[in-house]
Amino acid sequence: MHKDRITTHEASKPRHDKAYILYWMQSAQRCHENPALDAAIKASLRQKKPLRVLFVLDPSFKEANHRHYSFMLEGLPSLRDKLRAMNIEFFLDIGPFVETVIKHLSRAVLFIFDKAYTRPLRDTRGHIVQAAKTQHCPAYEIETELIVPIEKASSKCEYAARTLRPKLLRQVDDYLEETVLQEAHHPPLDEPSYADDCISSWLERINPDTSIRKSTYFEGGEDVGLERLEQFVSESLCHYDQSNDPALDLTSRLSPYLHFGQVSVVRIYQRVASMIDHCPAAVESYLEQLLVRRELAFNYVYYCQGYDQFETMTDRWAYETMAAHADDPRPVIYTKEDYIQFNTHDPYFNAAMKEMVYTGHMHNYMRMYWGKKIIEWNPDMKTAYETILSLNNAYFIDGRDPNSYTGVAWLFGRHGRAWTRRDIFGSLRYMNAAGLKRKFDIETYVKRMDNLEEKKS
Ligand SMILES: Cc1cc2nc3c(=O)[nH]c(=O)nc-3n(C[C@H](O)[C@H](O)[C@H](O)COP(=O)(O)OP(=O)(O)OC[C@H]3O[C@@H](n4cnc5c(N)ncnc54)[C@H](O)[C@@H]3O)c2cc1C
Repeated sequence: MHKDRITTHEASKPRHDKAYILYWMQSAQRCHENPALDAAIKASLRQKKPLRVLFVLDPSFKEANHRHYSFMLEGLPSLRDKLRAMNIEFFLDIGPFVETVIKHLSRAVLFIFDKAYTRPLRDTRGHIVQAAKTQHCPAYEIETELIVPIEKASSKCEYAARTLRPKLLRQVDDYLEETVLQEAHHPPLDEPSYADDCISSWLERINPDTSIRKSTYFEGGEDVGLERLEQFVSESLCHYDQSNDPALDLTSRLSPYLHFGQVSVVRIYQRVASMIDHCPAAVESYLEQLLVRRELAFNYVYYCQGYDQFETMTDRWAYETMAAHADDPRPVIYTKEDYIQFNTHDPYFNAAMKEMVYTGHMHNYMRMYWGKKIIEWNPDMKTAYETILSLNNAYFIDGRDPNSYTGVAWLFGRHGRAWTRRDIFGSLRYMNAAGLKRKFDIETYVKRMDNLEEKKS
């Protein structure tokens, strides 16, 4: 593993009188290409202590509902079995993250955890690290979810893709290392935990909000995600340069697997890059999204303090233009209920909502269109922002991700530029149905979404 992926928070000596090496797995829910698991196995071999991989289900996790939990839990049985096959204990606990991890810390020789980027997850880690310091338990944070580690890519909040891109491209090859896991030799502890329960009993214990239910279009887990990657590479990758067209359905749909760390971004990058001789333009266009756009989103939530508040999420020029048009009349106003019931006058917007509500996903181009329409149909920008973000995070399996906050802020000018001035939007980019009809065979997209509805009923 590249040394830049490791941050040492507490450098005390390993506590040999304690029971196990503790790896709290949260961001990287997988056995392949997982540098934190690799570090934990190596520590276990070096210290001759068993390895406990701790997975915590926090029932009070903000904005998490039945859809999110179901997708995540679907990945756990095979994760557990693979770890056991490597002589590693998989300990599943249920409770608030901080208290639960700290409970396991007291018996840890040393502590390893994976890095997070959004504020709530970073705060959680801050409290746990504080406890490790108080106990003099060595604590190491490992960066698993980005190709170029966040602070190596840049030390500040970047203005746009064009300012981050050269920094990433200069370094990317240094961080494409392959992580080959060894087997842990020490017999696992296998203390009783919830690990052997089934998905429905985990769900019962968490008791999540069921108003938005599991998507039947996406199944969670690293094996399913890796299969999805192979399918994408063999069937669609070489046409990816046309993937902007929602009618064509050419995107990878890997974002839910990336969000839960079920598929490694390094693995995706390497697999896609291996096709460069077959279809260079398509490969380059995919890697631009996976590397530049995605890492720009992580940069945004990591360095830009107010990334999730209307008042602080975008640039000054954008606030100025929004203020100048605050009193422009809105020709139509819709409510959240209208959106969820597919009850607007716009068939393309309604189709996008069907994709969101039924599948838990939405094509990237339609995410832009969808958000722009909600801006147009709300009495003010703040209400529009809050409505968009709450729908995004509730319905998308990949919601609550750095890409979520960045995608929504992009609607309000972040990482963008000023366009021709017009009503309501000022200089923010505007999108309309005529554009969809001109560029794409958008009726095909609408038909596909109508079929989803029929399948459901
Ligand atoms: C209003 C709005 C809201 C969004 N909300 C989310 C969200 O909640 N979660 C989420 O993961 N993405 C979000 N995005 C970004 C993007 O739409 C999705 O990442 C993409 O559609 C996921 O589908 P895919 O995996 O098939 O993408 P592909 O086209 O196959 O791309 C591959 C990967 O590249 C990355 N990527 C692609 N497009 C973008 C982008 N515009 N910005 C950053 N990374 C990108 C993603 O990790 C994606 O999985 C949002 C964009 C907008 C405009």
